Amino acid sequence: MYTDKNIADFIKKDPILKDIIALKPVIWENPNRKSMADMPKFLINKEDMVAAEALWDRFAPFFMEAFPETQKTQGILESPLKEIPKMKELLNEQAPKIDGRLFLKCDNKLPISGSIKARGGFYEVLHHAEKLALQAGILKNSDYRAFASPEFKQFFSQYKIGVGSTGNLGLSIGIISAKLGFEVTVYVSADAKPWKKDLLREKGVKVVEFSGDFSEAILAGRQQTEADPMAYFVDDENSNDLFLGYSVGALRIAKQLEEANILVDAQHPLFAYSPCGVGGSPGGTAFGLKQIYGDHVHCFFVEPTHSPAVLTGLITGENSKISVKDLGIDNKTEADGLAVGRPSNFATSMSSHIISGVYTIADQELFALLAKLMDTENEFLEPSATAGLIGPQLVLKTDYALKNKLNMADATHIVWATGGDLVPEKQRLEFYERGLSEVVM
Ligand SMILES: *Cc1c(COP(=O)(O)O)cnc(C)c1O
Repeated sequence: MYTDKNIADFIKKDPILKDIIALKPVIWENPNRKSMADMPKFLINKEDMVAAEALWDRFAPFFMEAFPETQKTQGILESPLKEIPKMKELLNEQAPKIDGRLFLKCDNKLPISGSIKARGGFYEVLHHAEKLALQAGILKNSDYRAFASPEFKQFFSQYKIGVGSTGNLGLSIGIISAKLGFEVTVYVSADAKPWKKDLLREKGVKVVEFSGDFSEAILAGRQQTEADPMAYFVDDENSNDLFLGYSVGALRIAKQLEEANILVDAQHPLFAYSPCGVGGSPGGTAFGLKQIYGDHVHCFFVEPTHSPAVLTGLITGENSKISVKDLGIDNKTEADGLAVGRPSNFATSMSSHIISGVYTIADQELFALLAKLMDTENEFLEPSATAGLIGPQLVLKTDYALKNKLNMADATHIVWATGGDLVPEKQRLEFYERGLSEVVM
């Protein structure tokens, strides 16, 4: 626990913390960002990322068999990188004006689970399933279609998987685990949306509900899962497999940029803006982009004003030791994918050297952006996923580009849209209408 004196000392070290505690939207530049030349050695590297991508390739025949909707992409799960010029035009009705090109990375359209959690969550479960199959010697002739067979389902049914989630991670882990035949339990926090819980149960997933926040759901899930030797816990607060799964997204974006003939170099900076919960998905993709583009890519995280978990972890230097609750921040937000009080230990220690900064956003703004993106580009995102859209203009409000001598006229901005496709129609309409009312305010 932290005393009032501790907290006063944190504020003295970085006075922006006072605004964060007062729930004001802030733009924070990371003073600990390292250039590639000074980057410390991490536990994982580019080779691990490439190896992670190879796992996806091995499992492609399984996906084609188990999820026929993936046949048209040969069993590879990827989302479009879409230019959004009309949204840029709308944003540019207010200063400062965005130069360069604005893209949306449409992970809301990732097949099967409709959120970025399909990258990390699927990867970790597949990695675990592959290991079990290899150990048991049941995988013959490297035929990964067998993972969709009744024999494999029977084999996996003796094993269990547990995960704590605010919703989307549970959906991804739940869907893939149930498909493989695992007995899967999702421990959800109070802020998980009812439709997400219903959908999970529909897919054959056991849902255990907690009245507390995400960290409490994770703690309970971890304890109950680890007590069972046949069970495996996917730990969102400390998982390098989740992180590696997310990092593959960077390799895929690099291919998409190349196909679109978009350069990233000293004259053509790349910016990425990612909604941030525990920091795993934005950390994994930022790590991946840095491995590919080095100092030419600039990564920013976005958190709700009520759940600035990674931001407070980084500012205080306490990382996962501190929760926003320790600072009197309530962790209450409609952005359920970001409703996280304590950051990932594994991801945050790496992000502290990699990222350029973090900004926070009020819930009203998330909804307003949701409606604006629908109106301009006809693209539906869930509220959590819209947070990156104000990134380019926020960065322009600071002296970041000037200080780093960046040629903004030829910049490429990628806003990571992290989820939305599974949201039911009725909810979509409610979100959109709320967004409209926020716009006229
Ligand atoms: C989980 C999630 C995030 C954030 O990912 P973290 O790994 O928790 O930081 C962002 N957007 C959506 C829609 C999510 O579900």
